[in-house]
Amino acid sequence: MQRQEIQGLRVHVVNVPAKAVHSHGSGDVAGINSVILEVTTDEGLTGWGEASPWPVFTGTAEGNAAALHVHLRPHLLGADPVQVERHLAMADRVVVGCPEAKAALETALLDIVGQMTGLSIAELVGARHRDTVPMSFSVANPDFDADREDVARLYEDGVRLFKLKTGFEDHAFDKMRLEALREGYGDSVSLRIDYNQGLRATDAIRTLRDLEAFDLTFIEQPVKRHERAALADITRAIDTPIMADESVFNPREALAGVQMRLADVFALKIMKSGGIRRALEVAAIARIGGVDVYGGCMFETGVAHAAGAQLMAALPELELGCEFYMSTYYAREDILSEPFPVRDGLVHVPSGPGLGVTVDRERLAKYRVDLLQ
Ligand code: MG
Repeated sequence: MQRQEIQGLRVHVVNVPAKAVHSHGSGDVAGINSVILEVTTDEGLTGWGEASPWPVFTGTAEGNAAALHVHLRPHLLGADPVQVERHLAMADRVVVGCPEAKAALETALLDIVGQMTGLSIAELVGARHRDTVPMSFSVANPDFDADREDVARLYEDGVRLFKLKTGFEDHAFDKMRLEALREGYGDSVSLRIDYNQGLRATDAIRTLRDLEAFDLTFIEQPVKRHERAALADITRAIDTPIMADESVFNPREALAGVQMRLADVFALKIMKSGGIRRALEVAAIARIGGVDVYGGCMFETGVAHAAGAQLMAALPELELGCEFYMSTYYAREDILSEPFPVRDGLVHVPSGPGLGVTVDRERLAKYRVDLLQ
């Protein structure tokens, strides 16, 4: 295999409007504000990656764009794209935080290595264990009647996993929505609920005991990220599995998490861990500690969804599905050349070398608000 050199990095900041505003407890979101990274080689290959931050959760698009454009670029130009882990180690030395930028860099490099070798990213990081993953949709519209219509339409499409977002009204509203969905769909759906850190530690257990009757698949991040002792207490007190999202970003937090039995499930997100390999490390720690994993996402386009799907394929065990619904059901339009493959309620892991998807340059330009090159 001929050695190639990284020749260019283009950082596209995009803003893709949503079909409808989603409310996620910790903030309303009207679109996808993310950073698309384009890495080119001297032999004419192009690798794509995405950093999709959420300011209240992981970081900002501006910060991640600057990390890539200003701080990482000088270390990458002229370098060998195959040495992915070395470049990630460099990125950790050069920029603190910005896991989304590091995820974008890893994705773009693995996309290039995949094209050089003919292997998919899942195969490059281990194996392709599965071709499809059940997809979860987040019920996050403050107007529940609009959400009921969406749920009905998605049910028709074959979706059976639904996650309620909370925090825009009271506990009675959340219970009413769970009741309505259970009544409407019975046991044919898996219901989950995500508090996005919204409950007070002092009465979270009392609130959550109320939900045990709904037979939820999991309850996500009821208390604040740093309230780990409270989260562990909730995990002990409540029968329904508890999932940590904001409380577990990376392998270090996962290790502390299994040691204190922080939660029954960890949400994996490449934007939290800083890429697919770090997310696989989180998953390995979870597996050893008897903790399940779930495929989460941020507000992202099909580029990050494809990277997440490659991660899902590479996981030895995955029982709870994933939530890569944004490009199909949330964005007004995606920036991929072909629609991100969601059919019959399943995310189909893109096949083909590398990431398995490419970007439509016209649509990229249409939604671009800044270009750093
Ligand atoms: Mg969450």
